[in-house]
Amino acid sequence: MEITLQNFGHKGELYYADNVPVRRIAESCDTPFYCYSQLGIESAYDAYASAFAQHDTLICYAVKANSSQAVLRILAARGAGADVVSEGELRRALLAGMPASKIVFSGVAKTAGEIKFALSKDILQFNVESEPELHQISAIATQLGKTARIAFRINPDIDAGTHEKISTGKLENKFGIPWQSARQAYAEAAKLPGIKVCGIDMHIGSQIMSLAPYSRAFERIAELAQQLRDDGHPITTIDLGGGLGINYDAHNDVAPAATEYAALALKTFGDINCRLILEPGRSIVGDAGILVSSVIYVKQGGNSTFLIIDAAMNDFLRPSMYNAHHNIVAERNSGSEQVHYDIVGPVCETADTFVRNWQLAAQQAGDLIIIEGAGAYGSVMASGYNTRPLIPEVLVEDNTFRIIRKRPDYDSIIGMDIP
Ligand SMILES: *Cc1c(COP(=O)(O)O)cnc(C)c1O
Repeated sequence: MEITLQNFGHKGELYYADNVPVRRIAESCDTPFYCYSQLGIESAYDAYASAFAQHDTLICYAVKANSSQAVLRILAARGAGADVVSEGELRRALLAGMPASKIVFSGVAKTAGEIKFALSKDILQFNVESEPELHQISAIATQLGKTARIAFRINPDIDAGTHEKISTGKLENKFGIPWQSARQAYAEAAKLPGIKVCGIDMHIGSQIMSLAPYSRAFERIAELAQQLRDDGHPITTIDLGGGLGINYDAHNDVAPAATEYAALALKTFGDINCRLILEPGRSIVGDAGILVSSVIYVKQGGNSTFLIIDAAMNDFLRPSMYNAHHNIVAERNSGSEQVHYDIVGPVCETADTFVRNWQLAAQQAGDLIIIEGAGAYGSVMASGYNTRPLIPEVLVEDNTFRIIRKRPDYDSIIGMDIP
């Protein structure tokens, strides 16, 4: 399978983000940097919106995939809500213009401070992950004279067939309430002051490349919805979580399209008379972003040729953390000489390796190397390891671009320290 990205790729000798050569951006803000396509984000969102157009559905973009204010504003303008997992993300979503009435708060363990803040903003729904958390929300809501709308995150005990570090729906994972204990949890919630039960929530993992685990989980949740209604609970929303994968490299299965996902969801929940909530993250922004870097040196090693680029694991963690394989492209892609490179960053860790044995046209210092599919879980997971400044983010809109996050200078980084 050839990877064809909608918004990125070569036109002649130059590599473009929509109608801007990335070389032009590199000249203006220096490498490395993240680059996002506004059109790409919009079209991924629109694919979900149109696939679910026939049903009452709220798309709550999972902010943790990419929490840039500019990105959130693009989605807010299209009517998206947000799925947040911390007070910081909630503040980002509100600041970007996402109304509280479209924000759900997920996350394994919300602190008292976070609950208080979310209640003060009157968010749509808390996705509750444990009974102690339920009691904490009830106590704080009562204290503030507020009512918290809640759903329990139900762990359906389904293997999503994804990387173990991003699987969340199996019984041994730390997430949610085991489905076998769900009725008990809802009975408890119904008795508590300050709590209004309104639905069920699930999220079984990330980078899911097959609809089969969704199909099993959806059936389990639909069954539970019926049971809970029979028990007398008003179940009016079903939150399906996120998790749909994207095509990172040519060796994987092909990710299901939003339309196929919607067909499955609506087959199971179409007649259940519930509002659906979706929490896609990766599938909205992943393909809409790249990381642009430059070759620092080409180094001949004992067994391999190293292409040392100026992006590193602290800028983009997915390869070292999840063994993720991203398609990597060189702007200089012509010339007859092909070389197999180990593409690595300059950080002092062997894990700082993007790919081994990757065939590219012969490269020189200064050439641009592009890591594709870097829009999700890229910039948000970056750190300042090795006192490397967080890298800038750039948004392309057709034939224009603008910097949406600046590279911090060394004084401001080191100036955080109190000697
Ligand atoms: C991470 C997360 C998402 C988004 O997952 P993607 O794989 O990026 O779509 C949605 N819901 C919850 C609760 C999450 O933790």
